[in-house]
Amino acid sequence: MKKGRTLFTREEMLQMNIKVLEQRGVTVRSIAEITHKQQSRYTKDISMDLCIKSVEKILSLRDPFHFVQLAADLDRLVEAKAFSSPMQEILHDDLGLFGIDETLGLDLSGLYGTIGQTNFGDIDVNKVGVINKLNEEGKKEGVCHTFLDDIVGAIAAAASTRVAQVINEELALVDDSYQKLSIFDFEDDIK
Ligand code: MG
Repeated sequence: MKKGRTLFTREEMLQMNIKVLEQRGVTVRSIAEITHKQQSRYTKDISMDLCIKSVEKILSLRDPFHFVQLAADLDRLVEAKAFSSPMQEILHDDLGLFGIDETLGLDLSGLYGTIGQTNFGDIDVNKVGVINKLNEEGKKEGVCHTFLDDIVGAIAAAASTRVAQVINEELALVDDSYQKLSIFDFEDDIK
């Protein structure tokens, strides 16, 4: 059998992530809706388009690609009863004191800044939208969303942070007191 590829372009990674997420019942829009809801608490009139673009951007990056693909596979392997006992039962039951799924989510959520981790904590505790759906479905016998719910929450949180970064950059640029210096301008001070 021919060995599979390990490297993919950003467009390929985006499409592969969209496909695996849809197979697990998650759409880009459902993630962007969490992002939109979260950032709307801080800024009025956030465009849904910016939230969708932020989710898609994250899904095209290599680290998030590995997180999404691994999380989906781990959940599928639990559903196929491929783990040994007691990890099979711990993962299937999504034991409250098992926290490695949250550790992965926390790592991914910081992609655009530390507040991503606070955003992730908020999403993890309040379980809105598709996170709630994954969580409820995961309680059924033979269904496992132990890893993917955290990865989806982390993508929403990182996208939320990216939206905040984009908005703050725009605010900085319209502020007249902001001096538009190039880093090379400082060379004059050194001479
Ligand atoms: Mg989980």
